[in-house]
Amino acid sequence: MKKSLVVMFHEINDSDWFDNVAAFFKKHYIMCGTDALAGNHSPNNKDKGFCHFSFDDGHKSFAKNALPVLIKHQIPVSLFISPKIVRENDLFWFQKVKLLKRYGFTQFVQRRCSPDFPHFDLSSYSASAILKCYEINSINMIIKEFCKTTEVQFPQNININCLDLEQILNSDLVEIGAHTMNHPILANESDESARAEIIDSITQVYELTHRKVVSFACPNGLPELDFGLREKQILVKSGISTNFTTITDYYSDRFDSMSIPRIGVTKGSTTFIAAKIMFAKPWVYYRKEIMQNSEINQRRRLLLKFRKPNEGCNV
Ligand SMILES: [Zn+2]
Repeated sequence: MKKSLVVMFHEINDSDWFDNVAAFFKKHYIMCGTDALAGNHSPNNKDKGFCHFSFDDGHKSFAKNALPVLIKHQIPVSLFISPKIVRENDLFWFQKVKLLKRYGFTQFVQRRCSPDFPHFDLSSYSASAILKCYEINSINMIIKEFCKTTEVQFPQNININCLDLEQILNSDLVEIGAHTMNHPILANESDESARAEIIDSITQVYELTHRKVVSFACPNGLPELDFGLREKQILVKSGISTNFTTITDYYSDRFDSMSIPRIGVTKGSTTFIAAKIMFAKPWVYYRKEIMQNSEINQRRRLLLKFRKPNEGCNV
């Protein structure tokens, strides 16, 4: 039997590419919703594993490029959004960071944050890796400080708005899950803030969709670095039955329902994607052990010195 998996998408900038990808998965897997992952009625087929498509962040391209393809192929998916970003038609902080890089934001962050990392030369560290060591309030403050000195207009319509959400819900193929309010690194947050980020997002997604929210995706999604036992306990208490992570692995019973692994797909031919799925585990090893300057390894190095791991966040 082929291995089962959850695929993680973010932006879908090419609908033809996504059409090919959707057709590829539909041919080789049984496409399923989150109910199958929660163990309610797992598909039973000896030749094919099952596959669930998940989309994080609610980028505008989901409504524009992915949804028509999903309707064409009748594939059930989950979409993880921040109700605050949808309502305010705002950008996530990391989307702002991406846009600000061309204005010298990376160097600003390296200079601005260096007193917090006295034993580090931050000049080779990415703005993202540095900022992901801070609480969300500090991240927003650093971005604000930079924008005071540099004239920057953030574009609107980067993410889905309430109208898009209505159209998405009408398809009856998309389960909406919560993805916090502000996309913090939950492990960096105080107990009060972590609780509010999780519970408010679940409550407000329900208010927007009038559908029970049973799925969640932890921002960034790596155990220890991004979330831990504290977050899992809050999620369970809030009625969440499935929490998606960015642990790269196939889906299996050995993962608890609050730590569902996913394999990220962003680009490439279906041959490349098939290879990526086949070599998912060695790829993680390569990223961890050989790519020493990857964002994950930069964060690990900085966090070790920057602060003790949040006591509530032991996995
Ligand atoms: Zn996200």
